[in-house]
Amino acid sequence: MNISNDDLQQLIAFRQRLHQHPELSGKEVETAKKIKEFLKKFSPDQIYENLGGAGLAAVYRGSGTGPTVLLRADMDALPIDETNDFDYNSKNKGVAHKCGHDGHSAILSGVAQALHQQPPARGRVVLLFLPAEETGQGARRVIDDPKFAELQPDYAFALHNLPGFAAGHVVVRDEHFAAASKGMIIRLTGKTSHAANPEHGISPAMAVADIIKELTGLSMEKRGFNDFKLITVIHTRLGEIAFGTSPGYAEVMATLRSFRNDDMQQLTDKALAIAEKAADQYRLHEKIEWREEFPATINNQECVDIIRQTATKNNLKIEEPETPFRWSEDFGYFTSEYKGAMFGIGSGKNHPELHHPDYDFPDEIIPQAINMFDGIIRNILA
Ligand SMILES: [Zn+2]
Ligand SMILES: [Zn+2]
Repeated sequence: MNISNDDLQQLIAFRQRLHQHPELSGKEVETAKKIKEFLKKFSPDQIYENLGGAGLAAVYRGSGTGPTVLLRADMDALPIDETNDFDYNSKNKGVAHKCGHDGHSAILSGVAQALHQQPPARGRVVLLFLPAEETGQGARRVIDDPKFAELQPDYAFALHNLPGFAAGHVVVRDEHFAAASKGMIIRLTGKTSHAANPEHGISPAMAVADIIKELTGLSMEKRGFNDFKLITVIHTRLGEIAFGTSPGYAEVMATLRSFRNDDMQQLTDKALAIAEKAADQYRLHEKIEWREEFPATINNQECVDIIRQTATKNNLKIEEPETPFRWSEDFGYFTSEYKGAMFGIGSGKNHPELHHPDYDFPDEIIPQAINMFDGIIRNILA
């Protein structure tokens, strides 16, 4: 479809308005309100609110019966201070749209515009504006929300803008698209003592040293794994800043990452064993917690074929990375439960990277992205 210049300018202005008022994961209340207000112009058949938090869904129905196609955009921003200088800078200090979710929401609003002009021939389109993607919580909460029972998709698609790829190129892979990941917190409790007599207490210092070394070493281990995996130690804390005291408490935090879900299970078991062994050896009490769990995003073949056909029809170049992406996407919860696939739209070869303080969503890829989603809908619901 051809997006008129007026419509495009309206979408760009909307994207920049979302950019000015970013909200952190789980707090996207005003963002959802703004989107709902904007979508009213395109008269969706039905709107669902407060899905798994601030989630919003707009439904468009065709005249004939047919499958439900769900398209997902995310809405959350990041705790990053913006270093750009433009007239739509973030007004929320310390928070900014540095992953382009403002752009994804504008794109999906553009799809609403297209569906308003030309409803699907049959079936149903669900435009889902997802909360809390960055923390890996939104998708799980939306899927588990009782209201979502009425929105069960037969097909689910999502896109992410991707710096490092030429603007407007479509980036897609068979099967594994993005990695599984999760955060591990190891809490070690011993006993403080006078720093003059560390032998009278139980210090976790050596256990922390062993754990950091062995967790990092797991990334290199080949045995028992099928593909790429990585452990990144991201934070540690040992005792207090008190030169008279030998520490009695420590924390180690690490991110586990793998392309495959079975490797993640292996990695988890081995990381747990390392923490337990160190705690035993140094007579510490250990407590493990997990945060921000993302399953691998695994693309369904039929959905990948539809993405490829649509890109070809839209004259967009297709790029197929040799390996899955190391980052994670909570769309993996959707591809675990429904027939679905995720693809990327290049943001420009030299565009600042995602989550960098100078990143900004490239508005020039909005039309290609809308045409991909629109083409996918017309392909399935013809
Ligand atoms: Zn992100
Ligand atoms: Zn993102």
